[in-house]
Amino acid sequence: MARIVEVATARLVRQLHTPFVTALRRTSEVVSVAVRLTDAEGRTGFGEGPQVWRVTGESLASIEACVLGPLADQLLGWDPETEPASYASNALAQAVVGNGGARSACETAVLDLLAQGAGLPLVQLLGATTMSVATDVTIAAQGDFLDGVDASQFSQVKIKVGLDPADVDRVIRISRTSPGVPVRIDANQAWDLETASANIEALLSAGVSLEFVEQPLPAWDLAGHAELRRRWGVPIVLDESVFTIHDLRRAIDTGSGDIVNIKLAKCGGIHAGIAIAREATAARLGLMVGSMMESELGVSAAAALAAAISPDAVHDLDAAWWSIEPSDSDSPYREGRFVMDPTPGSSHAAHRVVPETLTWTSRAQEQ
Ligand SMILES: [Mg+2]
Repeated sequence: MARIVEVATARLVRQLHTPFVTALRRTSEVVSVAVRLTDAEGRTGFGEGPQVWRVTGESLASIEACVLGPLADQLLGWDPETEPASYASNALAQAVVGNGGARSACETAVLDLLAQGAGLPLVQLLGATTMSVATDVTIAAQGDFLDGVDASQFSQVKIKVGLDPADVDRVIRISRTSPGVPVRIDANQAWDLETASANIEALLSAGVSLEFVEQPLPAWDLAGHAELRRRWGVPIVLDESVFTIHDLRRAIDTGSGDIVNIKLAKCGGIHAGIAIAREATAARLGLMVGSMMESELGVSAAAALAAAISPDAVHDLDAAWWSIEPSDSDSPYREGRFVMDPTPGSSHAAHRVVPETLTWTSRAQEQ
């Protein structure tokens, strides 16, 4: 392998076949930043950083500035094969505070190059033994079903709540369409303690089997989440409350959650995600890997992490499904699973979603 000689970014815009609505936002297109690293042998590695103003605070412009600025300072001229695979994660984390999506995009691109060099798909470079992971599909925060779209391949749904005053009735109605299948709900921080408590009580007394309640309260309210666990015994998933391993430790200390939803754009990349998973497992917390509204490029990296840390869980990786035409016979979504490509590296998804005509902005190594 060889040193990295160019770092480039480009904007990826993909239309969704169904608008995606949560308590935090409504979106009908995926806009993200693709990152491309080129080494001295002309090999390219790709990653994706999503714009998520209301969760990570990252924007297209901030990701581009971060990648082409301080992160490129770390990457240009460096040969990834001279250090352990986790080195990039640490070097990038030391270069900037936050900016998890930008760091994750760069780390994924480095791991893509390393996996190509090793002749392995990324998922196997990470030590996973499975090539696919199960995922749920998300039902948006308003409306009952995925109108006109066939989501029947998925056996597990996650219902977004927090926007609709009739949430409880909606969840009861949806849960009755799949009797026996426990329901996942995600409020994206929209409730306060008493609202969450009343809603959970109403769902339980209506006989709804709740697999878990994800992030019912604001990210900062660890005590409130702990109180909900005590009151109702329903598993609580922490998503927006846990970005880093330090957040996880606070959540463990306060008894605030049962499961942690790990996302690359929050924690800053695959190695940080593995570290969080290790500590969460030691504290007997369950694991789920999710993603932002990203394309197949970012989701395939998240799926590789999911396969490495928790191959048997049902993850939250349907984000790219929303922008893949149902008629696409090469779709990675098959029978409710995200299936990874066996070719070396992780660029298969990039080759599917990055158009040839994309305009790249690049920084090359100074001679
Ligand atoms: Mg969530």
